[in-house]
Parts: sequence; structure tokens; C-alpha cells
Amino acid sequence: MHTEEKMEDQVGQRIAHCEERSIPAMMVIEHTESNVRSYSRGFPAVFSTAKGSLLYDEAGNAYVDFLAGAGSVNYGHNDARIKDAVIEYLQNDGVVQGLDLATTAKVAFLRDFERIVLAPRGMDYRVQFTGPTGTNAVEAALKLARKATGRAIVASFTNGFHGVSLGALAATGNGIKRAAAGVSLNDVVRLPFDGYVDGDFDSIAYGRKLFEDPSSGYGKPAAFIVETVQGEGGLNVASAQWLRSLQALATDLGAIFIVDDIQAGCGRTGTFFSFERFGIHPAVICLSKSISGNGLPMAIVLIKPKYDVWAPGEHNGTFRGNNLAFVAARTALSYWQDKHFLTQLDENICVMDAGLETVLKKHAKSLVRRKGRGLFQGIEFARPEDAMRVRRAMFDRRVVMEVSGPRGEVLKLMPPLTIPATLLERSIKLIDECIASL
Ligand SMILES: *Cc1c(COP(=O)(O)O)cnc(C)c1O
Repeated sequence: MHTEEKMEDQVGQRIAHCEERSIPAMMVIEHTESNVRSYSRGFPAVFSTAKGSLLYDEAGNAYVDFLAGAGSVNYGHNDARIKDAVIEYLQNDGVVQGLDLATTAKVAFLRDFERIVLAPRGMDYRVQFTGPTGTNAVEAALKLARKATGRAIVASFTNGFHGVSLGALAATGNGIKRAAAGVSLNDVVRLPFDGYVDGDFDSIAYGRKLFEDPSSGYGKPAAFIVETVQGEGGLNVASAQWLRSLQALATDLGAIFIVDDIQAGCGRTGTFFSFERFGIHPAVICLSKSISGNGLPMAIVLIKPKYDVWAPGEHNGTFRGNNLAFVAARTALSYWQDKHFLTQLDENICVMDAGLETVLKKHAKSLVRRKGRGLFQGIEFARPEDAMRVRRAMFDRRVVMEVSGPRGEVLKLMPPLTIPATLLERSIKLIDECIASL
């Protein structure tokens, strides 16, 4: 009783504390949100509205968004076309609940996904709706691969990031996130990603040797899971040739080839899928982040029909049918038939390529190289602390951007795909200024 009273008292004090108008909004976050919060620490502003490539804080200051919700708002904030469709759906009392009932919104999304994305690319896949986050899609993909092959081991790659729920975390490289698991992370073996080992080291030949040798100590894997560009791992790019060899290895071993296109997909590299010009045909593809197009949670797993071995309801969840996200996602897909959008995307990639080349040449001393491709690029600093310094200096100039890579040495440029070219150019000039003043 005593402790309950005390708790109530504390809760009362907290509520009073938060309601106090004089308490700055950021202090409410610091006081009440768990210590686990992270992005709000690096970007100490309270954002209230957003449009296109701009975020606005409570005082009305505009920030250029080079983080784009970690790649979940590729079409910009509150894109008018997507927003109108969502509002109209709500206005008409469209079904919102997220259980996987058949709904008009789901049917419309599936029709358009087939018509706009799959059919024109000659792709034959079933769509699995998973829980609405990327890590949910990865869990489903890994579980399916294990079921389809009857094998436990999954091969993943150095510096890979696949999410933080336990199965996905086992495939993730990041040491801090792995250490937080609190249990052993089993049944994953890791191979060096393309270019991880200096020189001409052939990590696919190495993998082949290990997995084909019955006495190597490695069992045959159920799957290979790979990102074509490692977003969190530092914008490391896999070459088309390497990916083709990896696919061939997976095929030879009877393993499922999974591409985690959660961050690199949905247009980030310049095409809808990050690999569509690479001549590979993954058995399973994970999509999330920008699949809904406006930041609403949604994730899907694309499965080649012969691997769709799920029993009905074998992998389920209450929120596997976010209808509002389906409405947004279907509308977002319309951009892939929109010449203006496609031209702007190509132009923006040229602007970023050229801008970063200039920055690199000017600051050859502090910078190592340009990494990534499309509108998914970064610059590697010789000293990781310089990348962080520039990130902070950019925030002072009201540009929101992150660092990535094993030591945070890569400054990451990830604006909405629809950013006006002039704003993109101007922001890259600001990066130039910040590096100059290091
Ligand atoms: C973000 C990300 C995930 C995890 O997605 P969440 O929605 O954060 O769970 C998985 N894979 C890749 C490549 C990602 O970038």
C-alpha cells in the first residue's frame, strides 16, 4: 500500500511536471522517455511539422532532412498525392484495423504492386505481409528459409544490419546492438562482404570452399542474407558480379538467396529494387522503410512461389495488414509510372555524384572516399571524430544527417528522392563549408 501510494504520488508529480507549460518540450522527452531513445539525442530539436524535404521545429525553424526517417520517407514528408489518398480513405471510414483480413485497400495495393512493380520487371513473387517493421520482415524471411530447407544455419555478412529482434540481430554485425541481446545469438555464420578484406580476396570462393567441404566445420546454410548497399554498415556497395556469384553459390548449395532491400530498395539507389539492373533473381526479398511511402509502418516479404511453404497462420501477428499504409503504398507506387519523378530522381543522383566528387577533391586530406550509390551515399572521413563533428556542424546549420559505418566514420547523405536539386546542391555546399572549418 505504502509503495503504491508512493508510486501514484510520483506519477501525479510527473503529469504535473509535463503539463507545466514552462518546462521545455525537450525536457519532457528527457524526463519521461526511456534512456533507449537515440535520434532525439543527436538532433536536439522538437519537430512539429514537415513538408517535402524540410522538417520544422516548434519555433518554426526549417531543417533540411538528409536522414529522411532513415530512408522511410523517400517521397518526402506529407507528399500531397499520398496524403490526400490517406485522408480520403479515413474520411470514407475505410477499414483501419490491421489484422490480415481481405480488404479493398489490400487488394488495391496487391493489384498495383503486381502491375507496376512485378510484371514490368518479369518478376514472379508472392507477397507476405509481416508485422510492420523491417526486423519483422527479416524474421519471417529467415524462418521461411529454415523451414523450406530444413537447415538451421544462415550466412550473413560483415557489417550487415538486419534489425534488432533476436533472429535478425543474430544476422546483424553491429557489436553494441548484439551485446544488448542478453542471450546467445545462434545459427548464423558470417562471411566477409564484397571488398571487406583488402586486395583481391574472393569472399564467395572462400564461402564456397567452407560450405562445400564436409569437414570445414560449417554445415550447409539455409540461406544467405545480404544488403546490396550496407546502409548502417557504412554505405558499402556490393558489385553486380559479386552478387551474381553469391546467387550462384546459394543455388549450388540449395540455400535460399535473400536480399534485404529494406533500406536500399524503394528507389533509394535510383531503381525500385536496388539490384534490378544486376541480373540477379533473389528467392526472397525484404522490403520495409519506404514501401508505404510516407513513413507509416509497413513491411513485406516477396517469395518466389516454389518457396512459399508456409502453412496458413504459421507465422502471424495482429498488425500484418496496416490498411492506411496500403493506401499510402499504393499511391506511392504511382510515382514509378511518373516521368517527372523518374527524371528528377536521375537528375538528383547526378547532382549528388558531382557535388560529392568536388567535395572529395577539395578535402583530400580529411576524406578517404565517396561510398554508396544513387541517393544513398556517404563520405568516409580519415578520422571518425571528424565525421561526427561535421554532422554536428551541419545540425547547427539546420541540416539533419547521420553517420554510419563501424566507427561512425561515414557521413551519410540520404535526402528524400524528391528533394529540389537546388536544395540538394546548397546542402552539399554546406557540407563543404563544414569540412573546411574542421
Ligand atoms: C532498418 C533496417 C532493418 C530493420 O528495420 P526496422 O524497421 O528498424 O526493424 C533491416 N534491414 C535493413 C537493411 C535496414 O536498413
